[in-house]
Amino acid sequence: TEPVHIIGAGLAGSEAAWQVAETGVRVVLHEMRPERMTEAHRTDGLAELVCSNSFRSDDAANNAVGLLHAEMRRLGSLIMRAADANQVPAGGALAVDRDGFSAAVTKALSEHPLIEIDRAEVGGLPPAEWRNVIVATGPLTSAGLADAIRGLTDENALAFFDAIAPIVHRDSIDMSVAWFQSRYDKVGPGGTGADYINCPMTKEQYDAFVDALVAGEKVDFKEWETNTPYFDGCLPVEVMAERGRETLRHGPMKPVGLTNPHDPTVKAYAIVQLRQDNKLGTLYNMVGFQTKLKHGAQQRVFRTIPGLEGAEFARLGGLHRNTFLNSPKLLDTQLRLRAQPRLRFAGQMTGCEGYVESASIGLIAGLYAAAEACSRSLAPPPSTTALGSLLGHITGGHIETIDAGPRSFQPMNINFGLFPPLTNPPAKKADGSRLRGNEKTVAKKQAISARALADLDRWIVDNLQAQAAA
Ligand code: FAD
Repeated sequence: TEPVHIIGAGLAGSEAAWQVAETGVRVVLHEMRPERMTEAHRTDGLAELVCSNSFRSDDAANNAVGLLHAEMRRLGSLIMRAADANQVPAGGALAVDRDGFSAAVTKALSEHPLIEIDRAEVGGLPPAEWRNVIVATGPLTSAGLADAIRGLTDENALAFFDAIAPIVHRDSIDMSVAWFQSRYDKVGPGGTGADYINCPMTKEQYDAFVDALVAGEKVDFKEWETNTPYFDGCLPVEVMAERGRETLRHGPMKPVGLTNPHDPTVKAYAIVQLRQDNKLGTLYNMVGFQTKLKHGAQQRVFRTIPGLEGAEFARLGGLHRNTFLNSPKLLDTQLRLRAQPRLRFAGQMTGCEGYVESASIGLIAGLYAAAEACSRSLAPPPSTTALGSLLGHITGGHIETIDAGPRSFQPMNINFGLFPPLTNPPAKKADGSRLRGNEKTVAKKQAISARALADLDRWIVDNLQAQAAA
């Protein structure tokens, strides 16, 4: 059989290569680093983690990404094997030693007899003789390839800006000024009604703050950035401030649904909210404060917010490019480009978000490509599984469970909202008493997880094991 060509050896491409080769099909894995680097990668290692070292929650019963971990392990994932072998302590999360992790993936792929690694950029459309291709070049796809793909898709944009907001150490926030409260005391899943830290501003403070944002020094845009649109809903805070003095007060700094317990008689003119960012509750991110202000300006301006005068930042904000396809419109259910089905896509380019999600889409793309190489078809994983529901979000195959219509399509982490609802949601505890409030949510998640793993096991037996036997 002809080899499968995989472009990009990041989280998705590395997993895809492993899955294809483990099926007995040859792989040529094309990776441009170190010959050509991206704006975020620093090494020549395969599956380099560009930012955090966390694969997030490993709790398969209660957390959608934990469930995705469990499913990937059952499917023989290399990414999960390397992560498990290089774990560092992180509470209920799976965090890894990034160098050890990348080294383990690089070693496994380099030593696999069916995998050839070609260290070169694929700078445009892959040659016509590559009949079975997986494009997994990620959010920082090199410009030549991104342009070539855009030319095939009839879309006017492929790259967007994705922004990150600053993260503050909780113990550096002055709680004699700030307070814990969710807007309208709303209790969300796992929440208490007091999930946010709120920092109040008077009119004078707000006006000075808006002026400082607008005047603050911004990072210069590089040449490749000038024509890239912002991801809607992810506008930098200073761009919002430039749009009008009141914009922030009607946006992320709305003062509604909150009462300052330090002085309930005074109504704040604007409020900055911070949301818990890590499980330990030691880090809080500034909600809606994605920014391209220079780091010095961020520290100076954000420390004028009451309660944040002494803020220590765990991370400052910034913008990065994010390349992704309008997948529900452009890809078929097997992740192939409708306009050129020899090209299959995987990873963040398909519109998932995060290391684990990207690797999982690489996993299924690898299985699809391997089946195709052997002239077999492979049924998609059940929509009740984490993998199937993420795939449904991407390809729009299960649109009844979520509005993933082409116009609303945005990159997404796996979450329980993507799963089809339970036919019989749990109502009672084992002892027969009724479930209340949050207990119901927890029981529902656990039932969704149990259903997913049972359905995945059946799918593995009916499809992968049956194919292997044949
Ligand atoms: P990547 O892992 O980026 O792999 C793509 C690979 O393709 C790279 O090795 C690249 O060198 C190669 N490549 C690109 N173009 C070509 C070409 N033309 N020819 C050959 N090779 C090519 N996710 C998280 O879960 N946690 C985080 O903290 C986090 N932080 C992020 C920070 C930044 C700045 C960015 C950009 C992304 C971040 N993400 C984070 C998202 C995360 O990067 C991705 O979800 C994940 O790495 C995507 O996997 P991927 O395989 O699709 O792409």
